[in-house]
Amino acid sequence: MKAAEVLYTRKLKRTSCREGIIEVMMNAGQALSENEIRERLPGNYDRTTFYRSFKTLEEHKIIHKIVIDNQLSKYTLDNSVTHKMEHAHFFCNDCHTVTCLDSVPVQDVQLPEGFTVAEKEILIKGTCADCKNNSGSR
Ligand SMILES: [Zn+2]
Ligand SMILES: [Zn+2]
Repeated sequence: MKAAEVLYTRKLKRTSCREGIIEVMMNAGQALSENEIRERLPGNYDRTTFYRSFKTLEEHKIIHKIVIDNQLSKYTLDNSVTHKMEHAHFFCNDCHTVTCLDSVPVQDVQLPEGFTVAEKEILIKGTCADCKNNSGSR
């Protein structure tokens, strides 16, 4: 799927900034922070344009936010865009990358009566395979 199609299916106007953000995220292969997205975005957009485009994509659930802690959030494309099933995410304490664990599904939870789910996020923190290998060879 192309960025333009994503905007089209959500009935959002095509702008180069919106398309650029989606393309950066499609090509990233990992979750990115707002700054990392901005650094990779081709073209010169001022802060306001970037921020507005970013928020629009988030509000329309094209972008999915993963809160790491109160200092850091990372973003991926929403499952509805990538057609992935709900999956856990892994934050590496060493290299600070977030990986989609596509093979680790988010289970359905049984909630007490009267409670409704708005979203479910499973975030696992630890050491990723790359960092583990690097530390072993030291
Ligand atoms: Zn790592
Ligand atoms: Zn993911």
